Amino acid sequence: MPYRLLIDGALVPGASSIDVVNPATGQVLMQAPRADEAQAEQAVAAARQAFPGWAALGYGRRSTLLDALAGAIEERIDDFARLLTQEQGKPLAEARGEVMATIAALTYYAQLELEPRVLRETAAERIVEQRYPLGVVAAITPWNYPLLLLMVKLAPALITGNTVIAKPAPTTPLTTLLLGEIAADILPAGVFQTLVDQNDLGALLSRHPDVAHVSFTGSTPTGKKVLGSAADTLKRFTLELGGNDAAIVLDDADVAKVAPRIFRGATTNAGQICLAVKRVYAPRGMVDALCAELARLAGEAVVGDGLEQGTTIGPIQNRAQFEKVLGFIADARENGTIVAGGDALPGEGYFIAPTIVRDLPDDARLVREEQFGPVLPVLGYDDLEDAIARANDSDFGLGGTVWTSDVERGMAVASRIESGTVWVNKHLELPFDVPFGGAKQSGIGRQQGIEGMEDFTQPRIVNAALG
Ligand code: NAD
Repeated sequence: MPYRLLIDGALVPGASSIDVVNPATGQVLMQAPRADEAQAEQAVAAARQAFPGWAALGYGRRSTLLDALAGAIEERIDDFARLLTQEQGKPLAEARGEVMATIAALTYYAQLELEPRVLRETAAERIVEQRYPLGVVAAITPWNYPLLLLMVKLAPALITGNTVIAKPAPTTPLTTLLLGEIAADILPAGVFQTLVDQNDLGALLSRHPDVAHVSFTGSTPTGKKVLGSAADTLKRFTLELGGNDAAIVLDDADVAKVAPRIFRGATTNAGQICLAVKRVYAPRGMVDALCAELARLAGEAVVGDGLEQGTTIGPIQNRAQFEKVLGFIADARENGTIVAGGDALPGEGYFIAPTIVRDLPDDARLVREEQFGPVLPVLGYDDLEDAIARANDSDFGLGGTVWTSDVERGMAVASRIESGTVWVNKHLELPFDVPFGGAKQSGIGRQQGIEGMEDFTQPRIVNAALG
């Protein structure tokens, strides 16, 4: 049976439907229900109605229900993982990893509580900061990690007492719909709902007067639109946007050791990670050795259908992005030297061989823009100061990495990178208790950690005279 939308506690068909394509085959995988504006309005009204009751339940009861939801997802891990590979493309083991992380996020937040904070207590007065939920939250997500990126919004929003409407990207709606079907039996009507669109309901939700918070993860251009839509009602918002993260390799680094980590950082999920390594700066004398090692790793990668055993890199998630990445490669071929990959694989799937490029000028598209695909430019530097300046010369500021044999030196360089997260000798580690967010045009606000929870609440100062 096709998946259904979850609106006001009921699993319902869409007003129409959309085709969901399996990027490994280029063929329609299945149809998904598409909501119209009337269904979106119905969902907002139901979320609003459910809000006071859900907020009044308190942390203890909400925690029990979220734990029950985590248990129900756990029972369906294999279904989720397979569906995720089919709609998104990532290798099955990575899909399973995403499902496990989704459960871990839910379990983590289900145990947390925002306690009131006593700011001052004297014989004369008591000043306390309380936090109360905002109301209806719209969780708008992209297509690279459809399940995990939803859960890091859903879990903190629900545990703090908000109700949530999830709106996935139209090319990866299925795992969100499956989550809705499971939640329908566990959460009260209107507390969590799913709306699938064709890129047309995000704006409606972002400007809706009854939506109190928009938690958005996606591209910087769309994030700017959300910011504009939210202005009219001054609603709260979190924007997790694009990145162009630099990896800076220091002259004391061991190439054989760092190359596989950089390669993984650039090609996991076929490079479709906001925090992927998107450009590498290496000492000029190290560029030959690093490129040779990266090219060897690119040659060893197994690009294919994520359901096939042995696949290490799956397809690009959708045709539009596939063509965009090929455009970056064409530009790189004209302006630099391709040392590995450089082509799409034959067939109907959206496969691109991992591609390593060198000798590009700093103003090349692949250096300035976000490629969001398995294509990595390696740039030489003569002077570390120059490398830091070039790494920071970007409108983006999401993440970054530093690779070295001397961790103190690495930390000193990391402290000069204008980004929300900088790793030294590690990458893509985002513990749920550590806040995460972008600098510059990579975002506004924080997700994860206590700060991420607080984002879904309004602080209220209660200031009382005693005696
Ligand atoms: P996108 O901006 O095209 O779409 C994201 C979501 O926004 C989709 O659900 C889409 O339907 C919706 N949307 C479209 N128009 C809208 C509007 N006017 N108002 C509100 N919502 C609207 O992004 P994408 O192509 O799906 O995802 C890739 C991008 O996401 C990359 O730039 C990547 O770096 C970024 N990303 C960022 C993070 C992070 O945490 N910073 C994580 C993952 C991905």
